[in-house]
Amino acid sequence: MTISLDKKPPSEQKRGHVPTVGFVSLGCPKALVDSERILTKLRAEGYRVAPDYAGADVVVVNTCGFLDSAKQESLDAIGEAMAENGRVIVTGCFGVEEGRIREAHPGVLAITGPHQYEQVVEAVHAAAPPKHDPFIDLVPAEGLRLTPRHYAYLKISEGCNNRCTFCIIPQLRGDLKSRPSNHVMTEAERLVKAGVKELLVISQDTSAYGLDLKYAESPWKGQPLPARFLPLCEALGELGAWVRLHYVYPYPHVDTVIPLMAEGKLLPYLDIPFQHASPAVLKAMRRPGNQEKTLERIRRWRDVCPDLAIRSTFIVGFPGETDEDFELLLDWMREAELARVGCFRYEPVDGAPANDLEGAVPQEVKDERWHRFMETAKEVSEKRLAKIVGREIDVIVDEVDDEGALARSKWDAPEIDGSVFLNGVTDVKPGEIVSVRVTQADDYDLWAERV
Ligand code: SF4
Repeated sequence: MTISLDKKPPSEQKRGHVPTVGFVSLGCPKALVDSERILTKLRAEGYRVAPDYAGADVVVVNTCGFLDSAKQESLDAIGEAMAENGRVIVTGCFGVEEGRIREAHPGVLAITGPHQYEQVVEAVHAAAPPKHDPFIDLVPAEGLRLTPRHYAYLKISEGCNNRCTFCIIPQLRGDLKSRPSNHVMTEAERLVKAGVKELLVISQDTSAYGLDLKYAESPWKGQPLPARFLPLCEALGELGAWVRLHYVYPYPHVDTVIPLMAEGKLLPYLDIPFQHASPAVLKAMRRPGNQEKTLERIRRWRDVCPDLAIRSTFIVGFPGETDEDFELLLDWMREAELARVGCFRYEPVDGAPANDLEGAVPQEVKDERWHRFMETAKEVSEKRLAKIVGREIDVIVDEVDDEGALARSKWDAPEIDGSVFLNGVTDVKPGEIVSVRVTQADDYDLWAERV
């Protein structure tokens, strides 16, 4: 990290002025959690959070460095903050490319990498010193969050032990580093007590949780709780909130949490980033490659929990992907009946080993495959949602206005999946869980009425 303070010095701040920080958060939910941690720490020290650039003494930009397009977006966001405010601290995944940031924006005050919370806070202290006043240090018990009150991301680990060839996250964030189980549970319980109704469990590889800690136990409610996927899921399932698992890999031990979904302790939802289905492409991606076995596993999961919804993400146009590989992917997706899917056209990421692979797929082929993929995804989703019409289901309300409410089913994660429209239902509040009957479905969304 480097710090330069050649702009308006902190000593110029007026006496009695409450230091105020602006925050721009880019990237994935994991980056959002980092932003929340930094903001919580700063708020605890008495900083105010400015709603706009003009009111901020300093602006922190939490960047994303996953794809080149994300890096460009980060550079643009830094540029905007520089133009509008001029006192900018950069952090997050793109922060590891300090040279590139300094070349584009030489005036930034400080640059730090991902998870360097202390260094970011230190840089904010240098730019706008904290004011010690016990009466402004009032932070809600659950910390400060950037999500609505009724749902929250719960990060259980950082980093990743896998080495997928298209990905530089392990280079950016390091190997798997799990949080002790009682730390995770303390945070989860605090969130639920503060009114959170849905916990979204995130990491880079949720099912690997605890491997680095050798599944060490830590005390929770007078009992030892191992840092292991199943016991953690069981403990989370006792908190009385919806618990949704993201970034799970289809390892055999994932089978053990499916009964918890059937019992209603966890949501019947698994977010599994399969990335592809062709063994040759998976091998080139350096990912576990037996999708036939995975199909069998999915069938067994559905025997235990018929309502299970699986969301996934895929990459089309990976180097060496043939027409046959791509057709295999479409067939596999139909077979697996995936509820929701996201699809990326392969993009070479600076520093990723996949850049050295032969067989680059031309852009127009990538585009064509992407469109065909999304068409197939739409058909699969439409067929699945049509079967839900007439059923009575629970939904969680996200927004309400004069015309009705926008809600989500247990099969829909916020931001990335579909919605349930409750037209004319105005007597509900965000975070409320209500029973509805599904009256209509289209490709990705449902319409329902109160029962
Ligand atoms: S599992 Fe693969 S894609 Fe995901 S973070 Fe780890 S290396 Fe990257």
